[in-house]
Amino acid sequence: MQRVWQYGLKSLLRLLPNRCIACRQSLQSDEQGICAVCLKSGIYQQPVCLGCGINIAEPGECYLLPYCGGCQKLEPIKIIAPCSYHDGLGTWIAAMKYQKQFAVLNALNYELAKSVLELQQQSWYSLPQAIIPVPLHPNRLKQRSYNQAWLIASQLSQLLALPLIDDVLIRVKDTQAQAGLDGKQRRKNISEAFELNNEFAYQRIALVDDVVTTGTTVNEIAQCFQRRNIDVQVWCLARAEAPDLNT
Ligand SMILES: [Zn+2]
Ligand SMILES: [Zn+2]
Repeated sequence: MQRVWQYGLKSLLRLLPNRCIACRQSLQSDEQGICAVCLKSGIYQQPVCLGCGINIAEPGECYLLPYCGGCQKLEPIKIIAPCSYHDGLGTWIAAMKYQKQFAVLNALNYELAKSVLELQQQSWYSLPQAIIPVPLHPNRLKQRSYNQAWLIASQLSQLLALPLIDDVLIRVKDTQAQAGLDGKQRRKNISEAFELNNEFAYQRIALVDDVVTTGTTVNEIAQCFQRRNIDVQVWCLARAEAPDLNT
């Protein structure tokens, strides 16, 4: 069903405005949706911990370490994102989901792909073999008419020449939105919401979502893969800091 909606979205993407979505200045020919100045001030200014998202090094030491001191023992799932939701371009990422406004999609996906390729130079990091978008439940997909995670993943698959696999991970439970729930409610809401329906030939995958807040959803999905000894990392356009929910 998602493939059908692709066509409508492709035409939307062609209609990107010729002014910066943030500052309204005219865009240069190499800028898409957002100008270089607004993009630069919206993305991370220095490397962040791939576990919890806090700043971990001085500017210039790009992704020197994967984890902050606190995360080194626990080795949480690695989350790669070009910006913070609240201090970065969250407003425009939300606009993708709620207003079909995709102005920042290309620019942020390009930044994300760039980070992934930079990480690839590090000995502790392995590129995934396939990209998997976090699926919507069919009911939600019908309502919204597209899955923004699929759209992000599809573009990353082209940018990085990695296969997009969208038929193995199934959302079997039509959960309520995670926003507004506390940590415990989030875990309960999302528990057993996903299933892997096929034999899966890959050992390492990147799970793609638009925004990761507490990581409850991606951790729940990661367990499905980890039970089959498949390594999971997460790629998203922004990390949302929600310290009060990390319980
Ligand atoms: Zn601008
Ligand atoms: Zn950390």
